[in-house]
Amino acid sequence: AHQVEGPPAYRETLYVFGTLVEIEIRGEDRDTARTASAAVGRLLQELHSDWHAWRPGGALHAVNTAIAQGRTVQVDERLAELLQEGRRLSCASGGHFNPAIGGLVGLWGFHADTPPQGAPPGPDAIAALVAADPRMTDLRLEGHRIGSVNPAVRLDLGGYAKGAALDLAAAELRAHGIADAVLNAGGDVNVLGTHSQRPWRVAIRDPFAWGVVGAIALRPGEVLYTSGNYERYLDHDSERFAHIIDPRTGYPVREIVSVSVLDSSGIRADAAATALSVAGRTGWPDVAASMGITAVLMITDTGRLMATPAMLARLEPAGDSLPGPV
Ligand code: ADP
Ligand code: MG
Ligand code: MG
Repeated sequence: AHQVEGPPAYRETLYVFGTLVEIEIRGEDRDTARTASAAVGRLLQELHSDWHAWRPGGALHAVNTAIAQGRTVQVDERLAELLQEGRRLSCASGGHFNPAIGGLVGLWGFHADTPPQGAPPGPDAIAALVAADPRMTDLRLEGHRIGSVNPAVRLDLGGYAKGAALDLAAAELRAHGIADAVLNAGGDVNVLGTHSQRPWRVAIRDPFAWGVVGAIALRPGEVLYTSGNYERYLDHDSERFAHIIDPRTGYPVREIVSVSVLDSSGIRADAAATALSVAGRTGWPDVAASMGITAVLMITDTGRLMATPAMLARLEPAGDSLPGPV
């Protein structure tokens, strides 16, 4: 039987997907935990290089090269499934979440591991990429062979790859018999377990101050993903351009500074957090509904907090910053 007073928690930190990933495993002996955690580390490194859009030698880079040249290319089962799921999520989001706009991501310089510098791209270059209208529905996925009817499609999976990877990492832990663990990739969190004795509490950062807006006690199987427009950006002439791009305009999102999504699927929560940032102050409730997301917290550029009832029911506010209902 599971004991509250079990062995001490096992903790390990990896650097992968451009962020620190913390793994914490409870209730297992050290060897079991260490073996499982090492397997997760290998898996995440492998996924990161397979799914990296811009690094030559990777599987996704080969797909983008093939699309640019009007060819098709063979991919493995995992990448084929990720792209299928990306297409479904993009359609459900009404195109606000669009991993086919890698051309725009690259043009703005948000593809590099370091933040971009210098002037933003010119309006003509942006307009040309928007006019080319790359969409996930342009992809042709026949079995494991992939191509695109639109050569302007460039896949950049940065909007949902972390969620997909943490879901696979959680499955890997389960396959190792781990029943109680948390995976935290820079504030994007998956919790697994069927018999957690103490809940995992996760804080949501306040983008305007060195503090937190509140915290949520996650239940087993839950995930919490935050899309922060305050982490990676291009500063130029006192203007700040964040790394989430509105596919309709080709320009970075401004209205929404932070989106947190509480859900049961990492891949869906990650895609939704990106989609809701794009959908903006008035558009987000419809996009959340069409994506099947119920618990959302949004923070606007003027510091306004908006949250769904399902989120308010779970959020333990810090201080007096209680969001108003929508
Ligand atoms: P965070 O990096 O804060 O977790 P996201 O999960 O929203 O934020 O991912 C942002 C990344 O998604 C960008 O760096 C880019 O690679 C990609 N991206 C940008 N705009 C979009 C969009 N409209 N749809 C899908 N992916 C996007
Ligand atoms: Mg993310
Ligand atoms: Mg995302």
